[in-house]
Amino acid sequence: MTRRDPQALRPRSLCVHGGYRASAREPAVVAPIVRSSTFLMDDAGYAARAAGRSGDVATYSRETNPSLEVVEARLAALDGAESGLVFSSGMAALSSLFMGLTDTGDHVLASHCLYGGTGALFGRLLPRVGVTFDSVDITDLDAVRRGLRPETRIVFCESLSNPNLALADIPALAELVRAAGALLVVDATFATPIAQRPLALGADVVLHSASKYLGGHSDLIAGVVTGTAQALDEVHWWRTRNGGCMDPGAAYLLDRGLRTLALRVAAQSAGASRLATYLEAHPKVERVLHPSLASHPQFADVERLLDEPGGMLSFIVKGGDEAGMACLRRLKLILEAPSLGGVETIASVPSHMSHVHISAEDRAAMGIPPGLVRLSVGIEDPDDLIADLEQAL
Ligand code: PLP
Repeated sequence: MTRRDPQALRPRSLCVHGGYRASAREPAVVAPIVRSSTFLMDDAGYAARAAGRSGDVATYSRETNPSLEVVEARLAALDGAESGLVFSSGMAALSSLFMGLTDTGDHVLASHCLYGGTGALFGRLLPRVGVTFDSVDITDLDAVRRGLRPETRIVFCESLSNPNLALADIPALAELVRAAGALLVVDATFATPIAQRPLALGADVVLHSASKYLGGHSDLIAGVVTGTAQALDEVHWWRTRNGGCMDPGAAYLLDRGLRTLALRVAAQSAGASRLATYLEAHPKVERVLHPSLASHPQFADVERLLDEPGGMLSFIVKGGDEAGMACLRRLKLILEAPSLGGVETIASVPSHMSHVHISAEDRAAMGIPPGLVRLSVGIEDPDDLIADLEQAL
């Protein structure tokens, strides 16, 4: 596990210089990939092991590895965290986080609109370990206040929800959650540290699916947790035991992707804003959800909570899911695929994909109406994307 590099650079510079720096002792400008699974023992290694702190000294790569530490340092710097941990996937990060931070008898209060895989994991994992779980509309602060219990340990939300882009008011939530003695955990996958730094807004722990924007090139599966060293010690214990550590090759790819994160997110945000304006005026589109639009339900809070509107947008095609799927099938440039955050624009209909195992009624209650198409806007010329949408609609 790696402590944050304390240099106080801005996020765009941290993408390039947060963490590893070449030096006389380590002259490679780019940190090499360390593939070794095992390392020579010395006094420090034995001492760390004896103290139950196997993450502090690299002796075996399921516990820690120099390539993991390079990218963990950059991620901790970007999130403004004391510490960072990387995982083999976002889901591995999520399960280690919940095993590490909850105990039998605890209660978890989670946003009712989450990535489908997260909801499915909570529904099966938490009851098995004796943790109770409730869902709430995280944008309704009174409902959150009513949902908190003396035994609530974690309040969990996405900074921008998947797929309806509801915005969590992290400072207001943090106040409520802190008063209740719980932890606010934010899945910041959609926003990235370029659009929002939840820890600076009051959150306690941040999680990312690094398979998305952080990697940024649709060529790796990875997860991240950042927060205080104390909170992450427990999460590290579970990463070591459930074996969700990252491969050093994936760590290298993730670290390479991070260096261009700020440029990609700026281009994706600008592209998504252009597309959102175009789609909002289209006669076949009922509604568009993007934080750049004045019609976004929380537009008044956007400037306070986000530095960039982000590259994710959803639009509701008139005619329901059938019309949405037909539109997807006619796309020629935009790719019909799961996932998001890559340099290529990707479209999906969540009711057939990430949220397919949720009933139509529950989807409606979550704010996912029939015909909702989710776009992850890439870095292509927005005019080419608009031409593709025009012929498909
Ligand atoms: N969180 C969000 C918001 C996601 O969209 C996803 C995946 O789509 C995950 C977590 C899970 O991450 P991964 O696919 O890297 O396991």
